[in-house]
Amino acid sequence: MKKFTIAVMPGDGIGLEVVPPCFQLVRDAAEKVGGFDVEGIDIEAGAGLFLRTGEEFPEESFQAAANADAILLGAMGLPSVRHKDGREIAPQLVLRERLDLYAGVRPVKFFKGIPPVLANPHFSKTDFVLIRESTEGLFKFRTQGIIEDDIAREILQLSREGCARVYDFSFKLARKRKAEGHQGELTLVDKANVFRSFKWARNIFDERAKDFPDVKTSYCYVDAMAMNMVKCPWKYDVMVMENQFGDILSDLGAGIMGGLGMAPSGDIGDDHAVFQPCHGSAPDIMGQDKANPIATFLSGALMLDWLADRHQCPEAARAASLIENAVENVLASGKVMSYEFGGTSGTLAITDAVRNELAVL
Ligand code: NAD
Repeated sequence: MKKFTIAVMPGDGIGLEVVPPCFQLVRDAAEKVGGFDVEGIDIEAGAGLFLRTGEEFPEESFQAAANADAILLGAMGLPSVRHKDGREIAPQLVLRERLDLYAGVRPVKFFKGIPPVLANPHFSKTDFVLIRESTEGLFKFRTQGIIEDDIAREILQLSREGCARVYDFSFKLARKRKAEGHQGELTLVDKANVFRSFKWARNIFDERAKDFPDVKTSYCYVDAMAMNMVKCPWKYDVMVMENQFGDILSDLGAGIMGGLGMAPSGDIGDDHAVFQPCHGSAPDIMGQDKANPIATFLSGALMLDWLADRHQCPEAARAASLIENAVENVLASGKVMSYEFGGTSGTLAITDAVRNELAVL
């Protein structure tokens, strides 16, 4: 029987409230499907650890996370806890950089039962995945900006290898989604009308497209995409973009889902992956049982799906579907409504409802 080792890293704030129930849900789903097992290794990192010990992410903890089959993370950092130079505690960035997690996967989907953000009736068909290149672009030299003679300068870098690997990742995802009944279309989001670097990257995109003739392709300028994500988000299937563009549009994606408590994510590389909700540690609501755990549950499902593909384990893919279906059914039933949407269901009530639904699926 396949056994997956998961590095469980709740982190800080509401991460400590949403990750343990998520890992329990992952275990419930694995047990129900059978054929594989998941084992958790608890790893502490973040602002809380830094306050206690002066270390935010000990090397041996990093190595334990790197050796696991996947990493399930809550959120790290608290605005009140900082290094002497003012920087926040952010081990999640260490993981992204050291494990070369180049594809930031941000699914954006309408869930029945959540107050719809957009009034158009087509909005309910919204279901796309935004891929944010996460290792280069405007973030590549993020610590090396130059300020001289009243001029501030930053560098944006794209590389052939960096573009090709994230385009290939996105083409494969579009192909997989096509097999699941989606449109099977990949949209490259850029600013090729203004910058030479993006025009150059389009050539790489077109070259890679030749290996995926079954995937339809299109281009969209990033400013137009900002409008289209509000005007007609249901028209998109998979989109891929530079780091800074993805940073901004993925929050817009979370916004059209209803809020940060709904938005899952995966940061995926060739050998490692971290799954976490898009939100932070939410110190304003921590310790009050007010956090919406759905984003983390959906991140747990993404993790199982990734493990399924990587290890040819269809049982893990079935467990992922079970979690998604349980979430969908509970939200659609109206049995719970998170504080995030003006309701009175806390983390514990939403967790119970989803676990109970999973048990009867
Ligand atoms: P945040 O995402 O923590 O909170 C923004 C707002 O959304 C808050 O009002 C919060 O209550 C609400 N919110 C977030 N998640 C929610 C949920 N699951 N249910 C209901 N409401 C939710 O962003 P912030 O306040 O800018 O950051 C707080 C801390 O988290 C900072 O220290 C920041 O650096 C850190 N952070 C960490 C990560 C990460 O670990 N990946 C990501 C973003 C921010």
